[in-house]
Amino acid sequence: AVLTALIPSVVTGNWGYWVKTALTFLVISCPCALVLSVPLAFFAGIGLGSKKNVLFKGGSAMEAICNVKAIVMDKTGTLTRGVFTVQRILPADGVSETELLAMAAKCESASTHPIAQSIRAAAGERGVKTERPESVQELSGLGIDADGILCGNRKLLEQYGIAIPADDGAFGTEVLLADHSRYLGSIVISDELKPETRTAIAALKAEGLKTVMLTGDNLPAARAMADELHLASFRAELLPGDKAGIIRELQADGTKVIAMVGDGINDAPALAQADVGIAIGSGTDVAMESADVVLMQSGLDEVPAAIELSRATMRIIRENLFWAFFYNAVGIPLAAGAFYALLGWRLSPVVGAAAMAASSVTVVLNALRLRNIRLHRAGRK
Ligand code: ADP
Ligand code: MG
Repeated sequence: AVLTALIPSVVTGNWGYWVKTALTFLVISCPCALVLSVPLAFFAGIGLGSKKNVLFKGGSAMEAICNVKAIVMDKTGTLTRGVFTVQRILPADGVSETELLAMAAKCESASTHPIAQSIRAAAGERGVKTERPESVQELSGLGIDADGILCGNRKLLEQYGIAIPADDGAFGTEVLLADHSRYLGSIVISDELKPETRTAIAALKAEGLKTVMLTGDNLPAARAMADELHLASFRAELLPGDKAGIIRELQADGTKVIAMVGDGINDAPALAQADVGIAIGSGTDVAMESADVVLMQSGLDEVPAAIELSRATMRIIRENLFWAFFYNAVGIPLAAGAFYALLGWRLSPVVGAAAMAASSVTVVLNALRLRNIRLHRAGRK
């Protein structure tokens, strides 16, 4: 603006005209539309997300999810409802069903794990009295050790060198019981898929995303579910610490932008490690704390909706940047009087101010278009 005021004035002696031109230049070159264009679109996008029950914790979460290439999912509580029902009770010789269930319920009496809740419920329904154990130790990813009774998965019993009968191939999650020397029996429980899981996985695959399932559950149960949902890959029998390590492996392999979806305490490190952590709203507080995005309706179908929303937002941002640059790119040379000598075009400060206001209004209106974008993927209201 100073140059515009000085140089042609000195050359032509027409001070009044060129000072006015310098003023127009100042008004036009103020990058207010540029400054507005990005945050406004993010606010509109984040606002729309919260209306659709997808909470983005800021613009960077939204920016990252738009380029996601792989989606890693926890099984229990994320793909499935996380509510188990007892299917079969298989006591070892010399143990009755009631005794087995009573022992299991005693072990699980203080645990908040979904498995524990199902066993307590089954004991309650069958009128089995549940005692409180004197000493309980919850071994995360394995099970429970209460008053010398072990209650958990194969890995737990194997750690104590207990001989376990071969898996009878039954589909389900086994909860095995033993004292520290002898196998006492098993309880087979099962969980069901959330109603929207199937369509959500199909939508994610249609987007070309790699689908990976991680679970602490046993291999046969995990394989059955991965086959049923046609997942690209899965890992089973993981300890809570393993999930973050697997995400790190995927990242080291060069898979860029990995989203992890989970609900449990054991998912929290993986949610933090992933490029985008997505927590299920009905999950644990730790998971929601570690995540970048929270799905308030707790369904996987909100993931494709979140991706679609972030893509729409990023598109609006690009359009806004175009318009902001466009106004300035056209306006600045015009305001500086670059076309005056050639074509006789000039801009008065008033028109310059109007053009600037118009550029801001353009980006605001464009950002507001996000409010009317319909998310095809959001299955349920
Ligand atoms: P996930 O949520 O992926 O299933 P968890 O770490 O919560 O992973 O559990 C992994 C496995 O550890 C369970 O599938 C189960 O076999 C065993 N387990 C964990 N907690 C308990 C418990 N309270 N009672 C019985 N088994 C348990
Ligand atoms: Mg879980």
